[in-house]
Amino acid sequence: MTVTALKGFKDILPDEVHVWQRIERIARDIFHRFGFAEIKVPVLEKTELFVRSIGEATDIVEKEMYTFVDRNGASVTMRPEGTASVLRAFIEHGLHAKQPVNRLYTIGPMFRHERPQKGRLRQFHQLSVEVVGTDKPSVDAELMAMAWLLLQELGLSVSLQINSLGCPQCRPVFKEKLVGFLEGLGSGLCADCERRRHTNPLRVLDCKSEHCQQHYRQAPVILEHLCAGCADHFRATTDGLVSLGIPYAVNAFMVRGLDYYTRTTFELLTDALGAQSAVGAGGRYDGLVQQLGGPDLPGIGFAMGVERLVLLSSQQEAVASGNEPELFLVALGEAALATGLRLVHGLRSCGLRVAMDHEGRSLKSQMKQADKLRARRTLIIGDNELAAGAGLLKDMLVGSQETLPLPGEVAAWSAALASRFRQEQ
Ligand code: ATP
Ligand code: MG
Repeated sequence: MTVTALKGFKDILPDEVHVWQRIERIARDIFHRFGFAEIKVPVLEKTELFVRSIGEATDIVEKEMYTFVDRNGASVTMRPEGTASVLRAFIEHGLHAKQPVNRLYTIGPMFRHERPQKGRLRQFHQLSVEVVGTDKPSVDAELMAMAWLLLQELGLSVSLQINSLGCPQCRPVFKEKLVGFLEGLGSGLCADCERRRHTNPLRVLDCKSEHCQQHYRQAPVILEHLCAGCADHFRATTDGLVSLGIPYAVNAFMVRGLDYYTRTTFELLTDALGAQSAVGAGGRYDGLVQQLGGPDLPGIGFAMGVERLVLLSSQQEAVASGNEPELFLVALGEAALATGLRLVHGLRSCGLRVAMDHEGRSLKSQMKQADKLRARRTLIIGDNELAAGAGLLKDMLVGSQETLPLPGEVAAWSAALASRFRQEQ
């Protein structure tokens, strides 16, 4: 019996990895344009970190975490999201002492024990960004504009929904009203909502059941219960979006699945992935750094799901990987193979992507390989060519061919060829 991968854990095979690389390349480029620096943090953390940040009565902590006992008896968890780990590192290394506002991003795998579906895995990947040290609403708008630009440059169309969840001053008042409303509903809610109306009442509003949602149509609306500070902040955030030309819709029922959010929350949604409609989501977490034992600094962040970006990208026209060989060297016969290996190494040393066949296959079969790899050019060397001191260079894109003198000295020849190919791109 062969051993297979775990359910919900997916291999990313060579023929799709270029879509991943393109997404990461464009994301990094945009993050750098907006002044973000990369941070890499461990995938395994003390369980307490996530319980204290994400919140005990959330889906993630209640039923989705990969938690186990380490060999020393400590409870550890495979990170289900990035913010908690990044803030833990931020506090542990006193990054706030180096500059007042820190802009950080991280890219990597997250782990949640969910029911695997298209676009929903147990190991998935996030592009995750954080701004720590400012509560200015213009930063909220700037961050959403960055997410928007990223999706635009990826060629993906999504919609932006925003809401405000208020702050520790105004949210309790709203929560009390909501609890009162939920009590008035009697029975008839789904099992999750039944439980949550006691443990985490705000979360019921996020229920996916149409039946529950019908009950909540008359529920109090958080945006009507914001204190003056939060209302001003929300207005300034939406003004910022308008001035940057970012289209958005207000969704007063969005509450998000993590407890740490305050004020601005947002989601980037698509209708092209069935039930997995969220491509990205984020929000403000003004009390969280302090709650984790750090200084009282506000923050805001978002995360995008790479698998969902990949699925959306794959629905578009096939994109060239950009990793295709610039040259495929076709060597025919023992002597040509020996020369070919030297030439290929010289060209690769000069920065060219070069492929060749080591098996001594026929001309026809090697040309087929070159086609399959979408090589831009081929260089054919056989015994006749070797004797004449020149190979046959074919440009597969333009369709032209020429005889190319073979070198006595490989390095200079390779450098000249590399610079010629660069000009032809
Ligand atoms: P959903 O409503 O789809 O469960 P979420 O609110 O749990 O999403 P977040 O915790 O905000 O998601 O994570 C941010 C993004 O990470 C999501 O918008 C989504 O694109 C992606 N994501 C979350 N969970 C998964 C998963 N199990 N598999 C693949 N991508 C995921
Ligand atoms: Mg979820």
